[in-house]
Amino acid sequence: MILQTKTVIIILSIFERELIILEIRLAGTVSESIVDGPGIRYTIFTQGCPHHCEGCHNPETHDFNGGRLADTDKIYEHIVKNPLLKGVTYSGGDPFCQPAPLYDLSKKLKENTNLDIMIYTGYTFEQLLEMAKKDENVKNLLYIADIIVDGRFVLSKKSYELKFKGSSNQRTIDVQSSLKEGKVVLKEL
Ligand code: SF4
Repeated sequence: MILQTKTVIIILSIFERELIILEIRLAGTVSESIVDGPGIRYTIFTQGCPHHCEGCHNPETHDFNGGRLADTDKIYEHIVKNPLLKGVTYSGGDPFCQPAPLYDLSKKLKENTNLDIMIYTGYTFEQLLEMAKKDENVKNLLYIADIIVDGRFVLSKKSYELKFKGSSNQRTIDVQSSLKEGKVVLKEL
């Protein structure tokens, strides 16, 4: 009887974990964006950001209890219906605050489509590498990404001349080349 109870608890906890992984807290989505990376992109604005950059354009995305919960499977189904998309962008908020559901979505996209994954984050690439040593979910999301625009928005370095980023301290990084070479490799877009 004790063994049966334990088995039920284990099954339930696996089930609960699956549910947690599949749900993401969103600020919103844009089905076709041309301002969040190259080509036409599906953009996911995650809810929750710890960075509080001065001059942030999306302050309503900072609250970790704001936004709404969404099912990543439904987002996936929405994305794959659009043949015009070149890729998917995770913006924020900070997507690396919810790495598990985004990795789950990214994995499905990589397995079944040719869409690339671009991520905006307030963390630097070096910080992400450090975080990845302690957090498997961060590591998974980092290692599956194609492009990362890293670093906080710095108001004094704001420029309208920059392509797909807000301030000149932010870098557009070729993630796979950077991981392979063990140093940051920039990407021209
Ligand atoms: S990281 Fe992005 S969303 Fe977060 S405060 Fe900075 S600019 Fe705003």
